[in-house]
Amino acid sequence: MKYKPADHIQDLQYFGEFGGVNPSISDSSTYTFLSAKTMFDTFEGNADGCYLYSRHSSPSNLYLGEALAAMEGTETANVAASGMGAITSAILQLCKAGDHIVSSRTIYGGTYAFLKNFTPGFNIQTSFVDITKLDVVEAAITKDTKVIFCESVSNPLLEVADIAGLSKIAKKHGLVLIVDNTFSPLSITPGELGADVILHSLTKFINGSSDTVGGVTCGTQDFINALRSVNDGANMLLGPTMDSMRSASILKNMRTLHIRMKQHSKNAMFLAHKFQEDGFRTVYPGLPSHPSHELYKTMMNPDYGFGGMLTIDVGSIDKANELMELMQERNLGYLAVSLGFYKTLFSAPGSSTSSEIPLEEQKEMGLSDGLIRFSIGLDNDIERTYQMMRKCMKEVGLLKTEHA
Ligand code: PLP
Repeated sequence: MKYKPADHIQDLQYFGEFGGVNPSISDSSTYTFLSAKTMFDTFEGNADGCYLYSRHSSPSNLYLGEALAAMEGTETANVAASGMGAITSAILQLCKAGDHIVSSRTIYGGTYAFLKNFTPGFNIQTSFVDITKLDVVEAAITKDTKVIFCESVSNPLLEVADIAGLSKIAKKHGLVLIVDNTFSPLSITPGELGADVILHSLTKFINGSSDTVGGVTCGTQDFINALRSVNDGANMLLGPTMDSMRSASILKNMRTLHIRMKQHSKNAMFLAHKFQEDGFRTVYPGLPSHPSHELYKTMMNPDYGFGGMLTIDVGSIDKANELMELMQERNLGYLAVSLGFYKTLFSAPGSSTSSEIPLEEQKEMGLSDGLIRFSIGLDNDIERTYQMMRKCMKEVGLLKTEHA
């Protein structure tokens, strides 16, 4: 039976301090102890249930972490102030000077820049590979490799990683498989497929209201303890700590994630079919034309569909900009980076979220400058939205008028 992530979230029960249906927010950076000995024991990590200082952990962050661990089916989780806070800490926890990483070459531009430009300063090198080719991934492993890094569904090209296949390779070579699951929460459960560490930018679908940044690392208790260690834990020492007020608000939004994901997926599937029929080169994992459509089907939790992200290629950056500006003017969505909002968001990744990737590498990986990335919204009547988008496409000369 497939994993049922939303049911695991549903099964959690919280009570607030005064019996509230939401847990109380821990509005404190530091915590008192009735005895000095308990404070010492807490520092040593031996006083379960006691809080010390909110950079280490706080009740509100633990509640949110518990829900995210339930969603991903991991022992536990640690929330962070942003997706990058979670990603950079997890990588720096696992890799030290002299170590090597094998990473997918199509990943979020910020993660790419971190691995390409930042970590080499600490003598951590990364080989970027086509993650869909397992033989290429295995061939890139060296004696210094510690980590394989990928996104379940990649930003922005929507390449799909064969997580079970990658996990086999990781286990064979004693490596840690880190999967960024930001694009496919609920739809894919990487831990069930053998991933060791699962990361999310909570900024996107999970929070869903584009009002905060946030991140999470899901994994074993041992790994999360290591991240939180007061002596050498990357999350504790680098300090990407989420504020309690924010974690409380994200937890409340998470309760509707399953309903939102179903609607994002339904709307994206509808538009992907229509755009493809209209003759646009359309990439969406739910389309049979997607090279990894069959693979996605074997990995997915079918209740939640193929996700809310799709791309179309309109041929040039000028056409892309013209179309996006017109769609925004007609209130069909926002010309904005990020994803997972109730409104559709669109951007041209080559000149925005992936601009950290040099032009020749963008070309090599198939990131053309006319590519528009859509995060499809929760529109009630997607047929109506499509008709309005189609009108915009005609007005900018991307569709012939006689097909009206
Ligand atoms: N991972 C992916 C796949 C992303 O798309 C992003 C942001 O766009 C991040 C990580 C970084 O997350 P944040 O902006 O919350 O730091």
